[in-house]
Amino acid sequence: MHLFGDSSAAVSRAYLVPGVRRLPGAIFWAVVVGNAAAIVWLWVHGGNLSVAKTGDLLTSAARLTGLLGAYSALLQVLLLARIPWLERSTGLDRLTVWHRWNGHACLYLVLAHVVLSVYGYALLDKISLPAEISTMLGGGVYPGMITATIGTALLVAVAWSSIVIVRRRLRYEAWYAVHLSAYSAIALGWFHQIPTGNELVLDRIAADYWRALYVATLALLVVWRVLVPLASAFRYRLRVLDVLDEGAGVVSLRIGGRRLDRMKARPGQFFIWRFLSRGRWWTAHPFSLSAAPDGRTLRITVKALGDHTSRFHEIATGTRVVAEGPFGVFTADERRRAKVLLIAGGIGITPIRALVEELDGDVVVLNRALADEDIVFAEELDELANARGFRLEHVIGDHATDEGRELLSPAHLRELVPDVDDRDVFLCGPPAMTSAVEDNLRRARVPRNHIHVERFAL
Ligand SMILES: Cc1cc2nc3c(=O)[nH]c(=O)nc-3n(C[C@H](O)[C@H](O)[C@H](O)COP(=O)(O)OP(=O)(O)OC[C@H]3O[C@@H](n4cnc5c(N)ncnc54)[C@H](O)[C@@H]3O)c2cc1C
Repeated sequence: MHLFGDSSAAVSRAYLVPGVRRLPGAIFWAVVVGNAAAIVWLWVHGGNLSVAKTGDLLTSAARLTGLLGAYSALLQVLLLARIPWLERSTGLDRLTVWHRWNGHACLYLVLAHVVLSVYGYALLDKISLPAEISTMLGGGVYPGMITATIGTALLVAVAWSSIVIVRRRLRYEAWYAVHLSAYSAIALGWFHQIPTGNELVLDRIAADYWRALYVATLALLVVWRVLVPLASAFRYRLRVLDVLDEGAGVVSLRIGGRRLDRMKARPGQFFIWRFLSRGRWWTAHPFSLSAAPDGRTLRITVKALGDHTSRFHEIATGTRVVAEGPFGVFTADERRRAKVLLIAGGIGITPIRALVEELDGDVVVLNRALADEDIVFAEELDELANARGFRLEHVIGDHATDEGRELLSPAHLRELVPDVDDRDVFLCGPPAMTSAVEDNLRRARVPRNHIHVERFAL
């Protein structure tokens, strides 16, 4: 069906879909805010507002920050539990951004909880801070405090590893391994919450509600991060069919399996791929589909950029593959306007190459590359442009030069595509490129809600 053909049904579908698609995200936030309100109510109900002394005030604030800190830790898990309806309405990239901000909130709340608890109880017990710390860790008065302290230390380690400068120095896999310890941090924190949390220790319904939050989070995590990927590995039986050298350090893999039409993958989406061969099975990487899925095979195209991707050409045909997905909202469903501009930077051509197979009407593709020999899919793109009738322009030049810096500037964009501000724009590439071009598009007066971006970084 032509999305922007004469059929008014097709046009109204195009305008309706985004609102309907975002509904699960809105419901998710309603549940999140509702539970946060319930937690604050538990705290108020626990008598925390009627405080007389400074020590009481501090310990009351410590309870609230503790409850909300633990709750935001559960949200951290849920945001990246790969829950399909949440992912489809929001996009894994946006969920990753929310995860980052919520991670900050979680860390500050937990640290505030620790500082306020120690200081508040030291004032109430009329003892020094070291003496209060020793009482707390002693275990006799406050159960579960040693495990909670280890959990807090793990959370700090996760935050430390995520600070951008540190992360750039760490290997991605090392950062990821530290990140996994956040699950242990949450589990370790659990042991002191019901035994020592005033709101929970005195009220059975409140304690059951608190347990239910943990059980629900664990259930969603196990279902979507463990059971569903395992089930789809058995269901689809993916294997590498062939490996094709595309030149310039780029390799395409065609992957086959059973009943792939049931995956319901769309052009523009990506999977998280795990290749079950020696030295590879333990890491999983995101790659977009580089051709529209035909129900029998999937294709990805990978540029050698690091230790994993530079060994892609060594993957043997027949290698078993586990793919988590499809993920992403960089699809034709985002289109609201009759005219479309697609901009690719380097290997960012992969989802754009798949998308143009699905987009009809007035379509322009700008393909940004450093040099002619770096253009990926040169022939394929020419053939597709002829067959589907879209305009294709390669924008070539090194951005490190003065001339190169002007490429895809607002003026250059308007020169290449005079009606750029009248189009939906799909933009994909490395993070620095997408940020710069997104900025230029805004300066060329393309409204924010008509710019759809896929950044090759989670
Ligand atoms: C949604 C999405 C779609 C992508 N599609 C493509 C594509 O079609 N073709 C392509 O060539 N590249 C694609 N990438 C980029 C690709 O995932 C990285 O280049 C690759 O994972 C780098 O792995 P490496 O070990 O070789 O490099 P490294 O040098 O280890 O990593 C380079 C950078 O890649 C990122 N990265 C590394 N490992 C992972 C991982 N396991 N998960 C997430 N990010 C990681 C990190 O930001 C890291 O700093 C995509 C990325 C994303 C987020």
